[in-house]
Amino acid sequence: MREENCIFCRIANGDIPSRTVYEDEQFRVILDMGPATKGHALVLPKDHYADLFAMPEEKAAEAMKTAKKAAAILKEKLGADGLNVVQNNGAAAGQTVQHFHIHLIPRYQGDNAHILWNPTEPTAEELDAVLAQIKG
Ligand code: AMP
Ligand code: ZN
Repeated sequence: MREENCIFCRIANGDIPSRTVYEDEQFRVILDMGPATKGHALVLPKDHYADLFAMPEEKAAEAMKTAKKAAAILKEKLGADGLNVVQNNGAAAGQTVQHFHIHLIPRYQGDNAHILWNPTEPTAEELDAVLAQIKG
């Protein structure tokens, strides 16, 4: 199912041309227009889902299979030293386009791309409290 005014629906289904690096029946993988590094790509489902929470489990599994295939192609062809898989859900998490997508970000030694977080130092009690909240 597509959504009328969704740009990623239109790109994924070929209504708007894109730099497609891989495509299968359910997904299109395109070059990000604002890449963090050379070859930064996005896995887009052809069906519309706002985010991971809106997606059936099976489709999420298929998305990761496609991500793995495309990641291998990017790494090999571009000679990347590593690759980050990033997937944002909700504005608080940095999601700017409300159509599920997986970022594939090839990494190169010393590329200075900033996509990591600052680790904090919770106490054992604080970690236990978080776990209790999750399990409760
Ligand atoms: P996010 O912040 O996870 O929602 O990521 C959205 C990503 O989509 C950003 O990295 C944008 O650079 C990228 N993007 C937005 N519009 C387009 C477009 N028309 N073609 C390619 N990439 C896009
Ligand atoms: Zn969409």
